[in-house]
Amino acid sequence: MSDIERTEFEIESIWKDIIASAEADRWRPKKSPLCNWCTFKPLCPAWGNTPPPTPEITRIVGT
Ligand code: SF4
Repeated sequence: MSDIERTEFEIESIWKDIIASAEADRWRPKKSPLCNWCTFKPLCPAWGNTPPPTPEITRIVGT
């Protein structure tokens, strides 16, 4: 498998995960050192905060 094929496979896998999360309305945050620079931290459940309701997704491009 070439580098471009591996990259294509990885991107398709990430996109499938995004679609599955959107369909289930399940977005799991993951704490990391980057949280210290994240503007969503005051809304992030990983830090004990309450996120706003997510808007209904009516269309996902490429599905
Ligand atoms: S604060 Fe929450 S949304 Fe932001 S990077 Fe950390 S886990 Fe992700």
